[in-house]
Amino acid sequence: MQLEQIKQLDAQYYMNVFGERFPVCFVDGEGNSLIDTQGKKYLDFLAGIAVNCQGYSDEGFKAALKNCIDHVIHTSNYFYIETQAQLAEKICQMAHMDRVFFANSGAEAMEGAIKLARKYAYEKGNDQSEIICFHNSFHGRTLATLTATGQEKFHKGFGPLVKTFYYADYNDLESVKKLITPHTSAILLEPIIGEGGVIPATPEFLQGLEALCHEQDILLIIDEIQTGMGRSGEFLAYMNYGVQPDITVMAKALGGGVPIGAFLATEKVASAFQPADHGSTFGGNPLATTAGLYMLNWLTPQRLQQVRQLGEYFMRRLKELQAGHPAILDVRGMGLMIAAQLDGSVSCKGVLQALLAQGIVIGTAGGNCLRFLPPYTITTDEIDDLMAHLHQVLANFQ
Ligand SMILES: *Cc1c(COP(=O)(O)O)cnc(C)c1O
Repeated sequence: MQLEQIKQLDAQYYMNVFGERFPVCFVDGEGNSLIDTQGKKYLDFLAGIAVNCQGYSDEGFKAALKNCIDHVIHTSNYFYIETQAQLAEKICQMAHMDRVFFANSGAEAMEGAIKLARKYAYEKGNDQSEIICFHNSFHGRTLATLTATGQEKFHKGFGPLVKTFYYADYNDLESVKKLITPHTSAILLEPIIGEGGVIPATPEFLQGLEALCHEQDILLIIDEIQTGMGRSGEFLAYMNYGVQPDITVMAKALGGGVPIGAFLATEKVASAFQPADHGSTFGGNPLATTAGLYMLNWLTPQRLQQVRQLGEYFMRRLKELQAGHPAILDVRGMGLMIAAQLDGSVSCKGVLQALLAQGIVIGTAGGNCLRFLPPYTITTDEIDDLMAHLHQVLANFQ
């Protein structure tokens, strides 16, 4: 199909929540590049929003999925599922958690984590469970997760919201302490704010939160939906900080592109769920858990090290670029989750569009940031390529 036809169908039939999309439809992939309907190649620094961390030429991944499709892709949770059981063991071991539940998306897994925190509080005699989250966060689009998202623009028009979520300031421990009441059941945060502008937690803040939670018998819930699966250079970003939450939530890269989410908890917390407290038709089905199992085996310690090294290289190159471009106010991130914050003189969307025209895909984030989330298979040559184009595009904007 031609792009114009696709655009027309989308404009006529799809709910208008994405507005005018970027005028490209990718139909194929190769290495770390995507290929559009015209056969034009694009170097990918977005990876489907931190999803396709293995790039597009992983033949083992394709073979594993094809093998599953040749047998059975779905059976329901009335029955045992081999790959679900195997993935459950592997993910719990890697995350140092005791139990897991598989959902179909980030928001849905986060919703389950919130239910678990509430049920745990209820079992302890607190049926007014309050959750402290943060301004500028992002946790999803369901009613509870959009309430947990501390950004007004996501709330407007969807009231009444879910009750008893409160917002503290990120990287400000005192602002959290002020919100604690006898009903506080959990503190929920991203270890690196993603959509809100790629802002890593300071070690004092995250370690301080962990201590505070222990002291006050409050659950620590860490949203690793974007930062997890090695994106930060560790399996889960909180591992860079030496903290251990009570509940953590994953999705995005977990299935390498097949939709799957997960929330994990310690035995103490997970035991609050009893039969029939939670469930899912699709969650953890053979197709999704085949993908997840492949991806967890793919994510070896060597690959994590590669993410750390490539991240350092990327950051160094971006800082060199910053030295020649005063419009870049700040460069920050961890592993291969990196942002360049621009001043008001340059539009991020404009830079994104200019790069897209030149065959490079990047993302943006809140606070006027360019956001880079490449596959972990990206090469230093490909990073150099991006920097050369970025240099030229930024020069044209000045
Ligand atoms: C993407 C994201 C979500 C929502 O995940 P969906 O799969 O889009 O529902 C939640 N939290 C964070 C930190 C995310 O980056």
